Amino acid sequence: MDKKYKKFRLYVHIPFCIRKCAYCDFLSWNAGREEQDLYVRALCGEIRSHKGRYPYRVSSLFVGGGTPSVLEIRSLDQIMDTLADTFSFAEGAEISIEANPGTVTLEGLRAYRRMGIGRISFGLQSTQDKELRELGRIHTYGGFLESYDLARRAGFDNINVDLMSGIPGQSIKSWRQTLSRVMGLEPEHISAYSLIIEEGTPFAQRELDLPGEEEEREMYESTSWILGQKGYVQYEISNYARPGRACAHNIGYWTRDHYLGLGLGAASLMGEMRWNNTDLIEEYLACAPNPDRLHVHVEELPVAEQMEEMMFLGLRMMAGVRRQDFQEIFGVGLDEVYGDVVRRMAGLGLLADDGQRICLTRRGISLSDQVFVEFMF
Ligand code: SF4
Repeated sequence: MDKKYKKFRLYVHIPFCIRKCAYCDFLSWNAGREEQDLYVRALCGEIRSHKGRYPYRVSSLFVGGGTPSVLEIRSLDQIMDTLADTFSFAEGAEISIEANPGTVTLEGLRAYRRMGIGRISFGLQSTQDKELRELGRIHTYGGFLESYDLARRAGFDNINVDLMSGIPGQSIKSWRQTLSRVMGLEPEHISAYSLIIEEGTPFAQRELDLPGEEEEREMYESTSWILGQKGYVQYEISNYARPGRACAHNIGYWTRDHYLGLGLGAASLMGEMRWNNTDLIEEYLACAPNPDRLHVHVEELPVAEQMEEMMFLGLRMMAGVRRQDFQEIFGVGLDEVYGDVVRRMAGLGLLADDGQRICLTRRGISLSDQVFVEFMF
């Protein structure tokens, strides 16, 4: 493998959900068994077609969506078997699945474990039923607690819980209550993103009672402090983990490892090449065994764009960007390219620079979008 890119990661997209949430612009919809079966057959065809193409061992696999846990066990089994026949997995590879509360059973979760899935990520978003209804989620907090308990009973010792701030009607008090209830369950990992109103979603068409900018900022600032009290370490702008439980797969995205996306609309990055699979289901079903016909938006990234990405993705992580990595990847020193920007941002108290690494300061985190723009050519 090219020395510059250390890991190879797989993403598998399952585009099905029980019902569409009011804020969601992900590629997903409600589908019956027949449609799901057709998709799984096509997906397995696409996976098989990659046999022998990539001489790398898989460091992590993320089965996401959508809601992968709506698939029947036999379908997921088929996908996992096909992956195992096609790719070689590194010892101890991190294998994650996304699940929504209310879509799992003890028997199903035990089957996931037998398939080698070691990490499960629950989309909870809030522990307030009123906020869950506002978001259009299918579950209640009580439903989540049952699913969480089943996952522990099935032997999952690596659980992520997704939370959301900035929900209509949410207050600082209700957000803090959500955080403390979830911390009380002691998941290994917590992701806490802010709601973004995406065009074309029902939320974009409605008048929403959104928390003000100041309130949102306070929610964000209090998150790291509250979670820190219970031993969760913030390792990325929106991600917190117990020591040793950071998500390897997501770190791979932020450090620009090779990743191959499988399934409808999935994105891939291999060295300087980036592409997406088609997001048209008819086209996907027809072309899946010929991946080259599935690929759209194929582009070779200019070096300048790769540098920009390395900076704004790398700076999302608290560990920041290492000068030595930049030099090894691009054959040029980070300061030759970005010296002025780094000095200026450090002067404003937005970046910290210890000579080896550059990372965001607390103030830089809250103004991160403005900092990232400075690294664009
Ligand atoms: S469960 Fe997730 S992917 Fe499905 S509709 Fe809701 S937000 Fe979108």
